[in-house]
Amino acid sequence: MNSETRVAILAISIVIPLSALALWSSDNSRSTTVAESQQMKVLVSFNPLYEFTKEIGKERVDVSMIIPNGIEPHDWEPTIQDIQKMKNADMVVINGGGFEPWIEKLTSINSKILIVDTSDSIPLLNKDQSGFGNTFQKDPHFWLDPILAKKQVLNIAKGLIKIDPDNAKYYQENADIYNTKLDLLDKKIRTELSICNKKDFLAFHNAFSYFANEYGLNQHAIITNIDENAEPTAGTLEQVMQKAKALRLRVIFTEEAVNPRISEVVASEIGGKVLVLSPMEVNPENIGYVKKMEQNLSNLKEALCT
Ligand SMILES: [Zn+2]
Repeated sequence: MNSETRVAILAISIVIPLSALALWSSDNSRSTTVAESQQMKVLVSFNPLYEFTKEIGKERVDVSMIIPNGIEPHDWEPTIQDIQKMKNADMVVINGGGFEPWIEKLTSINSKILIVDTSDSIPLLNKDQSGFGNTFQKDPHFWLDPILAKKQVLNIAKGLIKIDPDNAKYYQENADIYNTKLDLLDKKIRTELSICNKKDFLAFHNAFSYFANEYGLNQHAIITNIDENAEPTAGTLEQVMQKAKALRLRVIFTEEAVNPRISEVVASEIGGKVLVLSPMEVNPENIGYVKKMEQNLSNLKEALCT
């Protein structure tokens, strides 16, 4: 036996037990790899639902977003091909509350598919009187209230348990773990905002009604129409500036996916500054829900605590 062979044999004898150990330990941990064919194919409409579903299903689910990240979900309409792709999923998760009016097209071609409406058991607010056109009768922005987001998480878990009952305990436990994080987030927001002396804030579009209700704040918005890209009229802008002055606001909010110019115009009029208050409808930087909420909290504190 030459020395090269000896090294090779030694290598094999070391490698085999190590890899066997690796298999054994991963079998006993949460990071078990599930064969692709055994994963539940889940489609979710937009960004926060992607994270919620992934946190509950982990490696047991293959989650894809229906609305491409970066596209404003209020305006999105699926093509025939998009709808065709959806019909082969094990489950489709929608926000509900009128956020996905296109979902009826899917049920018309596949009535058997499980559609999880995450708004189930959430008391919906009526649309803002001044906006949301005619399509949206209810305000769909409840995911921005962590307490209501917990209900969305439970509804998704229920759906996964329905399509994959063998792993019910796993889904329920993961949902509980994630909801504990949302509880902590809620406590943090409540505690930190409680010391602020102001209650009024000016969002870019009126996505924060549920959030404001939860934490005792008053939401005002530059855009009260569902189409975030809509330019406010000169008259509307004038009213917004008057309001910002009357409320002595120091911060005017914008969002990630919009031109900040409108917010800058208002801010310069009152000598204030522009910060982001994210409705999490797009997620270009791929930042998680809790972290994004903490950024919102920090920016809200600047608006309300100073
Ligand atoms: Zn919105």
